[in-house]
Amino acid sequence: MNFLEKKIVEQGVVEEGNVLKVDRFLNHQMDIKLFNEMGKEFKKRFKDVEINKIITIEASGIGIACVVAQHFDVPVVFAKKSKSINIEGEMYIAEVESFTHKCKNQVIVSKKLISPDDKVLIIDDFLANGCALQGLISIVNDAGAQVAGIGIAIEKGFQNGGKIIRNLGYRLESLAIVESMDAGTGEIVFA
Ligand code: 5GP
Repeated sequence: MNFLEKKIVEQGVVEEGNVLKVDRFLNHQMDIKLFNEMGKEFKKRFKDVEINKIITIEASGIGIACVVAQHFDVPVVFAKKSKSINIEGEMYIAEVESFTHKCKNQVIVSKKLISPDDKVLIIDDFLANGCALQGLISIVNDAGAQVAGIGIAIEKGFQNGGKIIRNLGYRLESLAIVESMDAGTGEIVFA
């Protein structure tokens, strides 16, 4: 088991509905030393890739992305969730369905913050069905920029997102891939 898998086994909680709660260390309370290890690991995995910007999505991606960005020495842009669309024109917009909240959000990024010469590393906490990632990818594509790579903390391998994103040809690195989990016993099996 790697450092993140160990932490998930120690402090993660499997809930009904295929939800893994990691609020003790990842998306409510944040273990910054762990984030730093994640940053080191992403830097190692993407060492051959040119990256000049990290993009993530609010809220849980932001903390991780900021610590990871220190290892790449690049700025972080986070896509904002917004219900209003009257800013069209100045913003790239994508529709994202939330896995955990079961609602649709517009996510927006100001056009002045991504340009065609950007080589973007997308960072997020979870990959489930891939909806959040597809929204971020479409924003990067709309800007004419390049998705240089995608780094995910926890991929739920029994859901479709990973397959979809890899089939689209993107370089996707997940630090922990959960193959199965059981809300009854609390057991978590990694790929
Ligand atoms: P997707 O768009 O891939 O279906 O879901 C990704 C987003 O949903 C992530 O950004 C994350 O915030 C949330 N999410 C998906 N699955 C889980 C989960 O099992 N636990 C938690 N805490 N968040 C999840």
